[in-house]
Amino acid sequence: MKLDVNVLKFLAKDDFRVLTAVEVGQKNHELVPLPLIESIAALRTGGTQRAARNLLRYKLLHHDSSKYDGYRLTPLGYDYLAIKALVNRGAISSVGSQIGVGKESDVFEVMNDEGEVMALKVHRLGRTSFRAVKSKRDYLKHRSSFSWLYLSRLAAAREYSFMVALAEQGLPVPTPIDHNRHCVLMSLVDAIPLAQVQELHEAGNTFHDLMALMERLTRLGLVHCDYNEFNLLVDTEDTVTLIDFPQMVSVSHENAQELFDRDVDCVIKFFKTKIGYIPEQDQARPWKRPCFQELCQRLESRLDIDLQASGHPKLGKGGKAVSSGRSPLDPDVAVSADSDAASEADSEAISAADADEEAGGSEASSSVAPAYDEPTGDAQPLAAA
Ligand code: ADP
Ligand code: MG
Repeated sequence: MKLDVNVLKFLAKDDFRVLTAVEVGQKNHELVPLPLIESIAALRTGGTQRAARNLLRYKLLHHDSSKYDGYRLTPLGYDYLAIKALVNRGAISSVGSQIGVGKESDVFEVMNDEGEVMALKVHRLGRTSFRAVKSKRDYLKHRSSFSWLYLSRLAAAREYSFMVALAEQGLPVPTPIDHNRHCVLMSLVDAIPLAQVQELHEAGNTFHDLMALMERLTRLGLVHCDYNEFNLLVDTEDTVTLIDFPQMVSVSHENAQELFDRDVDCVIKFFKTKIGYIPEQDQARPWKRPCFQELCQRLESRLDIDLQASGHPKLGKGGKAVSSGRSPLDPDVAVSADSDAASEADSEAISAADADEEAGGSEASSSVAPAYDEPTGDAQPLAAA
């Protein structure tokens, strides 16, 4: 999905107020009726309708009158709220070309005022079919309905907290910088997915590095669950960076062993079929398949508990694990997680408005310096509105 941030230039402060009001209304309405938007946005008479028309024109809102009359955010509308929040707090100043399309995300190059280039991952859960999301994630266990907006925000929050913890432990992951709504801002890794690598300097070394990294992750209490050639970036020196964390689970998860073995098999299969490296035949480097149970007996830390990864054990008296705990991001406790995140959105809405006030602009876009032009790589920042 293209992210044409030029549209930000055409949005006034009132437009963002109305966009935010729809987001707030969506906390408990699938479609937000106009009177509710009006009361949340609290603009002068006619202001909300005018803004809504503008937002419809730029496809940031969707109007639906099939069940009852109301509005909801489009994915683009949600993108703009997140980008605006990141711009307002100075984390980014422009959005550039798209550098990655994952199954459930779009990744863009972004820049801050100092000219530092970073990566912005925009989560898009629900883009694949509902069934695919449901089978892959456990967010939904007890929920009959879901919203892409809620799921994407949850995935971003999860990914950011995992990334922070792994970076603190010195694992080779991108440096987490910030997150907002469904977006995660991180360092840009100058590397390509292993899947695209033509040749490795020393396949055996890389293979052993990857196994060691997986074992370390397990000893920190986590299983990646998507440890494959698309989520392992390799630079020209064959240094590996691991990405893509929302689906990670606890080593105590009921399927942890199976998920761990699947991760191991993915790497072995890739090296055998694509690289032509068969670890069992490498005389110089004897290799033993990592044993999940053995690693679990040598845990060095319990990030799964700290981060409440799915399937983490609950701690009883004396810090002993007593049962498998549910993550606060799991669905049956999701209502509170949801409202927490939404109230963060509310306060962000207010601070966004404040930031504009301080900047002295009557237009919300006055503090936004939108993007480079087309995704050409050598992008030129456009003049601020
Ligand atoms: P998904 O969950 O959709 O699979 P990923 O996190 O795997 O998303 O990212 C998709 C692609 O974007 C990756 O394969 C990679 O090419 C690129 N990418 C993601 N994060 C970064 C980063 N920090 N630096 C450079 N490229 C990245
Ligand atoms: Mg991925």
